[in-house]
Amino acid sequence: MIVECRNIFKNYSTGKLDVPVLKDVNFSMEEGEYVAIMGPSGSGKSTLMNIIGCLDTPTSGQLLIDGQDVSKYTSNELADVRLYKLGFVFQTFQLLAGQTALQNVELPLTYAHVPRAKRRELAEEALTRVGLADRMNFMPNQLSGGQKQRVAIARAIVNHPKILLADEPTGALDSASGRQVMELFEKLNSEGVSVLMITHDRGIADHAQRMVEIRDGVLTQGDKEAMNE
Ligand code: ADP
Ligand code: MG
Repeated sequence: MIVECRNIFKNYSTGKLDVPVLKDVNFSMEEGEYVAIMGPSGSGKSTLMNIIGCLDTPTSGQLLIDGQDVSKYTSNELADVRLYKLGFVFQTFQLLAGQTALQNVELPLTYAHVPRAKRRELAEEALTRVGLADRMNFMPNQLSGGQKQRVAIARAIVNHPKILLADEPTGALDSASGRQVMELFEKLNSEGVSVLMITHDRGIADHAQRMVEIRDGVLTQGDKEAMNE
């Protein structure tokens, strides 16, 4: 398994109240799979994605990434998992406004201490893979929403991660740009990258091979038919 969640609970404390957000989530994904997580707003999708993405930790339960139990990892160790195994794409792109597309894509390589010339070469390669060879030196505000998201995808794949995680990646895009992003995910998946994507859009979820549903913090592994009610 590339991802395995075992009995994951997440509570948020707000003042005196302990609010349960994830309730005994069990989920696994095989290497090479393309899975969509669907659920209404507030159901815990981003909370779960942030835990799988090693950006947040569960209150209890176990998380295995690529067979490694990362549940007890320190924040530095989690940062390494993020850097070498995971790529993360957000709804609102999260690009650095003062940096070119190329510089944005080079950023993870800087953290990984890749030498400058190699960084450049890998970032150019990633931007070419997402169809932006002619936009490398553009600033984010000179790019369309769809192009920004493709820069963010290039940044997510520049380190050749095992898993691409995407939280509502088309949520801020028009339908044509959204379609391009979906085609890109399918291409990356066909090249061997495991993809886990959150969406609340059925048409977007249909691009995945498998769908799971989360409602009020409870995850059910469902197929597409079972979700049509
Ligand atoms: P989704 O992505 O499905 O819309 P989230 O995972 O963002 O849902 O949120 C699930 C629930 O957890 C919501 O009720 C939200 O208010 C709560 N929540 C999320 N993050 C925090 C936080 N940092 N502190 C307190 N409550 C939070
Ligand atoms: Mg969310």
